[in-house]
Amino acid sequence: EKIPLERIDANRWRIPMRYNDDMHVPGMIYADDELIESIVNDNALQQVVNVATLPGIVGHSLGMPDIHWGYGFPVGGVAATDAETGVISPGGIGFDINCGVRLLATDLLYDQVKGKVSELADQLYNTLPSGVGTDGMRILSADEMRDVMVHGAQWAVDAGYGLAEDLEVTEENGCLEGADPSTVSKHALERGRKQLGSLGSGNHFCEVQVVDHIYDQEVANVLGIGRKGQVVTTLHCGSRGIGHQVAEEFINLAESKQKEYGFELVDKQLACLPINSVDGQAYLGAMRCAANFAWANRQLLMHGVRQSFANIFGRKARPKDLPLVYDVCHNIAKMEEYEVDGQLRKLCVHRKGATRSFPAGHPAIPEKYRAVGQPVLIPGDMGRYSFMLVGDHGSMEQTFGSCCHGAGRRLSRTAAKKAIGNKELLELLEKRGITVRVHSKNLLSEESPQAYKDAQQVVNVVHNAGLAKLVVRLKPVVVVKG
Ligand code: 5GP
Ligand code: MN
Ligand code: MN
Repeated sequence: EKIPLERIDANRWRIPMRYNDDMHVPGMIYADDELIESIVNDNALQQVVNVATLPGIVGHSLGMPDIHWGYGFPVGGVAATDAETGVISPGGIGFDINCGVRLLATDLLYDQVKGKVSELADQLYNTLPSGVGTDGMRILSADEMRDVMVHGAQWAVDAGYGLAEDLEVTEENGCLEGADPSTVSKHALERGRKQLGSLGSGNHFCEVQVVDHIYDQEVANVLGIGRKGQVVTTLHCGSRGIGHQVAEEFINLAESKQKEYGFELVDKQLACLPINSVDGQAYLGAMRCAANFAWANRQLLMHGVRQSFANIFGRKARPKDLPLVYDVCHNIAKMEEYEVDGQLRKLCVHRKGATRSFPAGHPAIPEKYRAVGQPVLIPGDMGRYSFMLVGDHGSMEQTFGSCCHGAGRRLSRTAAKKAIGNKELLELLEKRGITVRVHSKNLLSEESPQAYKDAQQVVNVVHNAGLAKLVVRLKPVVVVKG
C-alpha cells in the first residue's frame, strides 16, 4: 500500500494520521519534487510512520531531506517524546552514538597549499589512525577511560590535546552531564579503551577543503571562514566500538523488556524504554558516556590534524592558527524545552542523522556566534561539495531545533559497489584534483559520490524551509578515509 503524502508547500509533505490507526502524530517530510521521488522509493517513509506510533511522541515524526532507511528509525529522522511520560528508543539514536562533524579553519589559501597537497595527504593519513578496529592515538587505563566518559573533550584538553578555547565552540562544550560509567559494560569499556583518537572506517573521514562559494559574507566572516580559496579541514567520526557496544546491549535489553513495559510496537527495532524508569535512565547514562568519548575522540584527531599542518607548513600553521570553528553531533538524544500547542514542555529529542540547528539568540550558542546562529556542518560527498550553514528560526517552530546531517544515501552499499569500481572512482577523483588516501581500498566505492544524494539539493531544502541558512560551500582537496 502506498503511503499518502499531502503536499504542504514546495519543501514539505505530510503523512496524515488517518493513514494508520496506531499513529499518535502525523509525519512530516522535508523535500523538493526531485528528492521526494527517491524518498518514496525507500522504506524510510514507512519508518517515519512507525516512529509516529511511539508512546509519548509529540508534534510530528520528522524526516529531513537526507532521509534514508536505517535501523528501526530512519537516518535523517527526528522524534521528540515527552521527557516525563514518554520513551527513549536506543535505535532512535543509532549505533554510532554522537557521530558528528567538526571543522577547523586555517589562515592558508589554496595557492599556498597546492604544491604540498600530496605531502599533506600522507602526513594526515599517517597521523590519524584509521581502518576497521584499529587502535587509537592513545591507549587508556581503566581510570582514564572513566574520566573520558565523564568529562569528554575537557579530558582531552587537560591531557594536552588541543586548546581550552576549543571547548567553547563544541556542542555542549564537549560533555553531556549525567554520564554514568556504572551503566557501561566491561566489554564496551574494553573496546573504548584502545580506540581513543581513531577515525574508524567507511563513511568516516578527514577532508581538507577549500571555501569555494560564499552565500552570506557577513556570517562567514563571523565564523572565520569568509575568504574565497581559504583552506579548512573537516573531521567526521563518532564513538567507535564503545558507542556500538552500548547501542547493541541496550537495544537487546529494550527488546527483552517490551512485554514487561506493556509496549506493542509495530517494528521490534523500535524497542524502547520509559525515560522515567531504571532502564531508561541507565541507557541515558551509558549513551552520555559514549557521547563524551566521541567528543574526546574528535578532539584527539583534531590535535593530529593540527600537528600535521604544523609539520608541513611550519610557522604559517601553528595550532592556534587552526581554530576550531564548531563541532556538532548528529546521533544523539537531548533533553530540551519546546512550546507544543502553546505549552512549554520538556522533551527528549531523538536526532538520528540529524543536526541541531539553533537560531540566532539561543543561549546554547557560543557568545561569539550568538548573533548569527549555531553553525551547522553538512558533509556532502568526497567528490562534489560540503556545506556550512547556521540555524534559522523555523527550526524552533517546526523541527525541535533540528535539520539534516548530510546528503544522505541514495544507493545501498551493495548498489554503490556495483555502480562504480574502486579504481575507476580513484581515477575520477584524481581528475577532479582530489587527492585520496584510503585504508580499506575495497570499501571506497561504497562511499562514492553517486552513492549519495546531491548535497546542494538537500541543503537548499532546509534553507528554503527556514530550518538553517546557507553560509559557505566547500570543495574537497584531500580525502583521508578509513
Ligand atoms: P553518516 O553519518 O550518515 O554516515 O554520514 C553523514 C553524511 O556524510 C552522509 O550523508 C554523506 O552526505 C556524507 N559523506 C559520506 N562520506 C563522505 C566523504 O567522504 N566526504 C564528504 N565530504 N562527505 C561524506
Ligand atoms: Mn558514524
Ligand atoms: Mn555520521
